[in-house]
Amino acid sequence: MSIDLEVMKQLENRPDEVLTRASAQVRAILERALAGGEISREAGEVLFNTEGADLSAVLKVADTVRRERVGDRATFVTVRNINFTNVCYMACQFCNFGVRKEASGAELLTPEQVAARAEEAWNRGGTEVCIQGGLHPDIPGDYYVQLLRAVKKRVPKMHVHAFSPFEIWYGVRKSRMSLDDFLAMLRDEGLGSMPGTAAEILDTEIRLQLTRNKLSADEWEKIIRAAHRQNIPTTSTIMYGHIDGPSHWAAHIDRLRSIQKDTGGFTELVPLGFIHENTRLYRNVPGVRPGPSMTENLKMHAVARIMLQGYIDNIQASWVKLGPEMAQTMLACGVNDLGGTLMNESISRAAGAKHGQEITPLEMVRIIRAAGRIPVQRNTLYQTLEDFTDHDPPEIEPLVERACGASPVAFLTQAEMQQAARG
Ligand code: SF4
Repeated sequence: MSIDLEVMKQLENRPDEVLTRASAQVRAILERALAGGEISREAGEVLFNTEGADLSAVLKVADTVRRERVGDRATFVTVRNINFTNVCYMACQFCNFGVRKEASGAELLTPEQVAARAEEAWNRGGTEVCIQGGLHPDIPGDYYVQLLRAVKKRVPKMHVHAFSPFEIWYGVRKSRMSLDDFLAMLRDEGLGSMPGTAAEILDTEIRLQLTRNKLSADEWEKIIRAAHRQNIPTTSTIMYGHIDGPSHWAAHIDRLRSIQKDTGGFTELVPLGFIHENTRLYRNVPGVRPGPSMTENLKMHAVARIMLQGYIDNIQASWVKLGPEMAQTMLACGVNDLGGTLMNESISRAAGAKHGQEITPLEMVRIIRAAGRIPVQRNTLYQTLEDFTDHDPPEIEPLVERACGASPVAFLTQAEMQQAARG
């Protein structure tokens, strides 16, 4: 599905020109957003249902709000993903990563093996390891603590971003500790922040169709609030493009905003488009869509920017899900961050994502520059590490050799030429 070219062409015009073409209802909502006002869940749903001139106005206003809130810098973080086990007994319908422990290819890394990968990442300039895994039935109650200790012993300054709320739920059960005590223990052992994954769509009926036994929406929120209470920041996520729609998206973002008003603990929103290939959800459940359309991807990032302004001002495009070229397009529609360079990524690839395992820092800088934005390397908590306005990061080889040497940013040559032509 392609993007409506006329919708995108309108983005070259000034916000007031684009707004003039919008319907009265959409214009009123967007003028409120431009004045810094809060957009209700109902109004958010209206924005998610826009098309044509109304959609152009949504995208343009999202870009304007982004510039006013966070400026023209676009950030990335150098991170290695470490999936310590692919064994999982949950069998979520949308996931093709988890396997049974008897399966060939089943893997469980020791804490020392995880620490060795973290050290390798540190030596290549990584500032963060993102550690997540399946719910392995045999891991001991202190496995999560052992992982933190091993990594921190080997690379004390590495930021450890680890354990989804579902893994926290599992660790609490395994360790027989209270939720707050378990989180406080992990924090004291070096857990710097947590991924807000396992949110999927925070709607009971949708979740029941995605996976019967997974954490409920209320449990997800309870664990996130507890993490924030223990001074552990988290990301927030939404997985969209399956059996969901605009009303669920607006309600989900509204719920994240309510949590943030109380805790201030979210660092960013990361919209994650459903990757349908190889999943049982797509194969077996009638009516499941094959992931979001490109227009839905644009709307998700843009409406999130508008609804979350003043509360969650970092909106990330996941290049692993979207592909680098589409992620770059998102920079014009409300996005200010392209996430991690990622040195290994297993979960999306297992579900059929085709966009490789790593974009090097130099490639990340080139993607951002070609979009006309200022490339900045950040740390996990969005503090600036290096501004690449006038120089490049060193060129490094990808950790995992690319198939046939293909670069995921081969599209850049043309985009860079266009940017050069624009001056
Ligand atoms: S999504 Fe997570 S919990 Fe569900 S099967 Fe996959 S690894 Fe397990």
